[in-house]
Amino acid sequence: MGTIRFVADAMLGSLAKWLRALGYDTHYQPSYPPGAIEALIKEGRVLLTRHRKRAARAGKNAVLIHGNDVGGQLMGLARERHLSPPASAWFSRCLLCNAQLRQAQQDEARERIPDYVFHQEAHQIRLCPSCGRFYWPGSHRTNMELRLRGWGFSSTPNGPHGPREDRPSLSDGKNLTRPSP
Ligand SMILES: [Zn+2]
Repeated sequence: MGTIRFVADAMLGSLAKWLRALGYDTHYQPSYPPGAIEALIKEGRVLLTRHRKRAARAGKNAVLIHGNDVGGQLMGLARERHLSPPASAWFSRCLLCNAQLRQAQQDEARERIPDYVFHQEAHQIRLCPSCGRFYWPGSHRTNMELRLRGWGFSSTPNGPHGPREDRPSLSDGKNLTRPSP
């Protein structure tokens, strides 16, 4: 995934989740101790904030986010920073804790997910190594993909030399990820 990484301020949890769905490394916590956001900016993250003053202080390391609608927020950000996440990055990251998912081993997934998923989608089950949640294809993911497409993101590889995976793409129409119960 590209190099742009984000830190979303406390009012932007929903935006953070959608950025993770697109594969962007997005730090978010519901509250930050003094100095924490500044430290994350120093680490190279772009601040997403709805506070005009905070955005001004961070200068070009910040994007001021407008409005309450997450779709509008995401589209505005995509325009401003020219976001064009490759299809292979979609749904590659835990929506809840931001960690990069990895392919789940069959033996670790077997007990933790519904049988019908295990039998039909075993090769597409992913695991968050940080919080232990499993993700697999399903209607929730399909709905998220539809919303992302509605906001102008394309999950087909852009251009003739777009990245391709040697296994079935996670973006071919069935999939979202759902935390295991
Ligand atoms: Zn996680």
